[in-house]
Amino acid sequence: MSLTSHNRPVPSSFDISGRKIAYFSMEIALSKSLPTYSGGLGMLAGDSLRSAADTGVPLVAVSLVHRRGYFEQHLDASGQQTESDVVWSPETTLPLADQTISIMMQDREITLQAWRFDVVGVTGHIIPVFLLDADVEGNDPWDRHLTDHLYGGDTYYRLCQETILGLGGIHLLHALGCQPEVCHMNEGHAALLAIGLLEARLAPASLHTASEADADAIKQQCVFTTHTPVPAGHDKFGLDQMLRVLGHERSSAIERFGCLHNDLLNMTYLALRFSRYVNGVAMLHGKVSQQMFPEYQVQSTTNGVHAATWLSQPLQQLLDTEIPAWRYDNQYFRSVYGIEPEVIAATHAPSKQRLFATVKQRTGVELAPNVLTLGFARRVATYKRASLLFQSPELLIEIADRIGGLQILMAGKAHPADNAGKGLIRDIFSVAAKLESSKLRILYLENYDWDLGEQLISGVDVWLNTPLRPYEASGTSGMKAALNGVPSLSVLDGWWIEGCAEGVTGWSIENCEDETVEAGRLYHKLEHVIAPLYAHKGRWAEMQRHCIAINGTFFNTHRMIGQYVANAYFPPAVSIAASNQTVDDDEVRQIVLA
Ligand SMILES: *Cc1c(COP(=O)(O)O)cnc(C)c1O
Repeated sequence: MSLTSHNRPVPSSFDISGRKIAYFSMEIALSKSLPTYSGGLGMLAGDSLRSAADTGVPLVAVSLVHRRGYFEQHLDASGQQTESDVVWSPETTLPLADQTISIMMQDREITLQAWRFDVVGVTGHIIPVFLLDADVEGNDPWDRHLTDHLYGGDTYYRLCQETILGLGGIHLLHALGCQPEVCHMNEGHAALLAIGLLEARLAPASLHTASEADADAIKQQCVFTTHTPVPAGHDKFGLDQMLRVLGHERSSAIERFGCLHNDLLNMTYLALRFSRYVNGVAMLHGKVSQQMFPEYQVQSTTNGVHAATWLSQPLQQLLDTEIPAWRYDNQYFRSVYGIEPEVIAATHAPSKQRLFATVKQRTGVELAPNVLTLGFARRVATYKRASLLFQSPELLIEIADRIGGLQILMAGKAHPADNAGKGLIRDIFSVAAKLESSKLRILYLENYDWDLGEQLISGVDVWLNTPLRPYEASGTSGMKAALNGVPSLSVLDGWWIEGCAEGVTGWSIENCEDETVEAGRLYHKLEHVIAPLYAHKGRWAEMQRHCIAINGTFFNTHRMIGQYVANAYFPPAVSIAASNQTVDDDEVRQIVLA
């Protein structure tokens, strides 16, 4: 059955019957103009698909349309955040899939249509992404808004969305003629796809007839990536909500197959129960997750970023001349060692200029092009500790004086419901106002998104990251910086444990329970190691080259998607050893989880 009306585009078909892998994600950063992502998870999903397209992986993806998107951030002079929706219209942008489907949810039928976004790779290989949309005539008026807001609404709204993504997504793919061999749950949000697979396997019989063998067959099909050790990142729903949204049959199947945890529907445990391969997103995160879920085997696949998406234009032009194969195969980044460091360093100046022009345009402030500039941008969350840098404000002023000036650019959104997070932004504004001097400039830029992120990571001199260990599962913005020859100064957490070669690709900040001590270490490196090196242009240029050659070669999604194909989607017949052995067990044990 297909719905068409006069103002709708003609449905368009796309043969996905040969797609072996189905990738499910609540958010995907598909293009700069679409508000279908909020932050790192969506960026990673988008970068993964872009690399899958470039490298010809037979994959299809599913997400929600998010008609009102993730919000645009506004900050007033005191740093008070307000939000506005970013409304977009798929009708005028994308083709409609030629099938609609209906599922039972909340004890009534809901019809879902899907818009197709094509991610096109360098050789023309396409990864079709189907964006499920509940805004269909005939649906209950409340239901029509279920695919409007990314991470909006209450838990009931969220469970409905996750039902649409997982259950709806599976039924849509089947209706479109795709029977994926592998289903990848990018975070627990998509875990209900397992129930969708179970329903489809048993149909027309009911879920009541499902046996352990049926559940095991589903498990053989599924792969699950967990993305955070922060408890709030693991969705949980009350049993009453589960029953109201999913109905009796599915709820009792979920219970019978042991997917409840502490008497809650916990999407992580549902995903774990139904996945044959589970992984964290960096070596340490895999180990931490292994300790969180000792009854399951958890592997590690370290994240990456899509190089062509994040490399600055000047650097892309240089690489296209010197090592054009990089677009297909990121291993060739190693060959930047054949380019003179000064030539690479010269590509950074226009990026810094472009960033400073944006800053001027947005804030009226003119930054100095030759002054050491730090970047710090990420979602506002307590564990990210944006304030560590301001632990001893007087000291920071003195250092800025002694090293000939310091500029700090910050950005980040707080979730609309996160009042503590919004308070953190106001705190930074008030500290920044107090610290402001001729030698120290601190600016907090509005609306951190793809566009601003790209300018920041390529335009600053050093990328700063100060999370509380081990909560930064991976982090990817530092990888984007590295690709552009920008070193990181970071706490040894997430990807940086693997990416930090001290003094070569950047610097570590040794963590300490006493935050004043930890901040002191940060200041010390800034003044005595980083600033002197920055003053030595030749050695700085060598460091920029190391960042690309050493870290760009590895922390990219071409490598990452290849690892997923080899280890998770189509693993070798012999069982593989745990992939996170490079992180010391004792060290992981010492890191106390709240
Ligand atoms: C890369 C990116 C992120 C994720 O970066 P982290 O290092 O994980 O904080 C978040 N938001 C935007 C806009 C990005 O580009």
